[in-house]
Amino acid sequence: MRTVFLNGKYLPENEANISIFDRGFLFADGVYEVTTVLDGKLIGFDGHIERLQRSLSELKYNFKVDREEMLAIHRELVTRNNIDQGMIYLQMTRGNPGDRDFAFPPADTPVTMVLFTQEKQIIGTAIETKGLKVISLDDLRWGRRDIKTVQLLFPSLAKMEAKAKGADDAWMLQDGFVTEGTSNNAYIVKNGKIITRDLSNDILHGITRKSVLACAKLLQMEVEERPFTIEEAYEADEAFATSASGFTNPIVEIDGKAIGTGKPGSVGDKLRTLYIEENMKAAI
Ligand code: PMP
Repeated sequence: MRTVFLNGKYLPENEANISIFDRGFLFADGVYEVTTVLDGKLIGFDGHIERLQRSLSELKYNFKVDREEMLAIHRELVTRNNIDQGMIYLQMTRGNPGDRDFAFPPADTPVTMVLFTQEKQIIGTAIETKGLKVISLDDLRWGRRDIKTVQLLFPSLAKMEAKAKGADDAWMLQDGFVTEGTSNNAYIVKNGKIITRDLSNDILHGITRKSVLACAKLLQMEVEERPFTIEEAYEADEAFATSASGFTNPIVEIDGKAIGTGKPGSVGDKLRTLYIEENMKAAI
């Protein structure tokens, strides 16, 4: 049984309970982060903490994230649960007002803070060699996808639609242009150039995206940050997706059409190798 963290306490997972009035439960009024653990160390920790603070501030939470305290909790959970490869999930909600009301509770209402570990093979998965198949569908999420909220119903429905069609994931479209995957940022490669949507309220500002684009620069690869259409994706030489726990994952098929050779591409592969190298050096 896992040891989890809830509001200042380390507890067995079956003893960690929150109120039925919690704003996260009633209003999806919560934000989250997922930090990858590799060799028992945290990957990209500071990026996740910065984005957490930004999500909270954008939603007008009266909470200042304490980096050192958060780091200590993450490390304690890795140790107590003996995690070598996996993730730490962190969620904060606007707390428990003791009733249901659309208006925010008083500013001094304590936030709810939950962290738990998930074991997952991160390196050497079948995806690296086989790649993923995606379908496209209209992006019906709200307009502030840059905030990492727990409102994940549409991405969850999209993932299920993909599975029903024999695919692994969905790339979501806004006016025919790809926004992102259900839980990852989307990229295509054409004539050696990497194309990925520019940062705005339309997509999550991926921690992995930032690091992978820095790796592309180190490798002197050309990058164009702009929206691309799904038709451009069909015609791409290569496609891939990035996320904290997937690093770069090759996309070999979109809407039943093979991308490039239909095999994982070399650009994504080179980026993955350098990403792992750089981030292992910086892991804490
Ligand atoms: N977009 C969405 C919608 C996501 O849920 C995620 C994963 N949290 C990402 C992109 C990738 O972000 P990161 O690299 O920070 O995991």
